[in-house]
Formats: sequence, structure tokens, C-alpha cells
Amino acid sequence: MSNIKLDFEPQTFQNVRDFKSDNMKCLVFAYVSLVFLIKLVVCDGGTNQIDKIIDLTWAVDVNPISWPNNKKFMYTRQVEKQNEDGSWYATNEYCSGEHGGTHLDAPYHFYQQGWKVDDIPIERFFVQGVLVDISQEVNDTGRSTQLTIDHLDKWIKEHGSLPNNTVMLIRYGWSQYYSDYDAYMGEGATPNFPGMTPEAARWLVDSKRIIGVGVDTASLDQGNSTTFDVHKILCSHQIYGLENLNIPEDLPAKGFSLVILPMKLKHGTGAAARVIAVPKSMANW
Ligand SMILES: [Zn+2]
Repeated sequence: MSNIKLDFEPQTFQNVRDFKSDNMKCLVFAYVSLVFLIKLVVCDGGTNQIDKIIDLTWAVDVNPISWPNNKKFMYTRQVEKQNEDGSWYATNEYCSGEHGGTHLDAPYHFYQQGWKVDDIPIERFFVQGVLVDISQEVNDTGRSTQLTIDHLDKWIKEHGSLPNNTVMLIRYGWSQYYSDYDAYMGEGATPNFPGMTPEAARWLVDSKRIIGVGVDTASLDQGNSTTFDVHKILCSHQIYGLENLNIPEDLPAKGFSLVILPMKLKHGTGAAARVIAVPKSMANW
């Protein structure tokens, strides 16, 4: 009996010690997990889901950003009157180029066989959204900054593979300049603002996951491009563009869907568009 007891007691003691040690390990593990989780949520906003609808569209106003050789938007107030019976009547007219303000670039813009605005299948406007944000780098190095393959590879490393039927938004942090034409387009005769390299555009094509690319500048190409290689590469693969988006700084890297509704302009090379980010919980596409 005593032997058994002696055998049992050290064993019990050992178990208690193991139990305490295991408990401690659990506590340490829980603590580390919690810290990691907090870091993920607080520091890496890029992986958060959005919980509300976000409008990525600039209001069409009397002086929207447009390409220098495009017709400026003109808004004419035609009638605003109180009728004799006390009722109200108002109507206006506007005239606009296709590529001013927040708008869609149809593939036909730079590819003769490409879809015109009204040819693009409507399913391509209810899509997954991802965001690549290089605004910090642009802030540090200026308006000649380019999005490169390295940025795209880094995004994949941090956030995983791209979903199918994705529109990639690229945030250069340029929306803050939208109301100041010279700051947004660049002073001088040639536009000058950030863009992506042709190699990055080819990377997007080769991913076979991208059906559209949206930017918070006036062009998919860098502002001072004269060859528009990025437009040509994307358009020749039926990838449409979205330009002059208003992309807020808290839009996450993924975890949102997009609704893109361009005016159904017959034969259009581009058209004003409403672009909206919606929570995944509201979107079943
Ligand atoms: Zn355009």
C-alpha cells in the first residue's frame, strides 16, 4: 500500500506540476494569439471587411477633371420655375466628353476590336474588389512614382491569391488633389502624376483574374506617358479601366465587392460611371 501511495504521490505532484505548466503554456499561447489578433485588426487594416456602402465616385460638377484635349463638361440651367398653380418645374442640359470625372474606359478606347461601353457584359460590373495602396510611397517619393510588379507580388504575399473576376483598385493617394487641377494633373503643358509600369499591366493580364483596373488619378498610364502602353496592354485583353475614382484611405486591401454602373452609351469609348464598394455580406456575386 505504502509503495503504491509513494508511487502515487510523486505522480500526482508531477501531474499538478504538468497541469500548471500546461496551463501556463495555454495562457502564454492565448496571450500571444490575442496580441497577434489585435495587431492584425488594428495595424493591418488591409485585411478588414468593410461594413458599409462606400461611394468611390466624384460628383459630376461644373468643373470635373478631364483630359486636356477633351471637351469640358458644360452644365446649363434651362428652366427653374414656380408654375401658376404653385407646382415646381426644373430641367437642365449638359454637354460632356466621355473621359471626364469618374468614368469607365471601354477596351475600344485603345483597341479597335475591343468592347465599346454598351458591349461590356453587365456581369462584369458586379465583381470582387481588391485594393493595392502605394500612397505612402508616392507621398515619400513624389508624382513620378510607379506601381511595379514588386508591389503586386508583395500584395499577393500579404493577402493571398486574387479572386476570379476582380477589379483591382490602385490608390496613389491622389484623391486629395482632385479639387486642385494643377496639383492633380501636374503643372505645365504635359500631365504629370503617378501610374503603373507596362510590366505591371502585363502581370495583371497574366494573372487571368483581373477584368478591370481602377485608379485615383486621371489615367491608367503615368501622367507623362505619350505611348499609353498600359491602356494598350489592358484594353487589348478586354480589361476596362476606371479613372478619377475617389478612394478613401480606409478602404481595405480586400473584403469588399464592387458595383460599377457606367452610362450605357451606345458606341462609347468611355462613359461617366457610378462606382460603389459594398460589403461582402450584401453581395452574393
Ligand atoms: Zn478615360
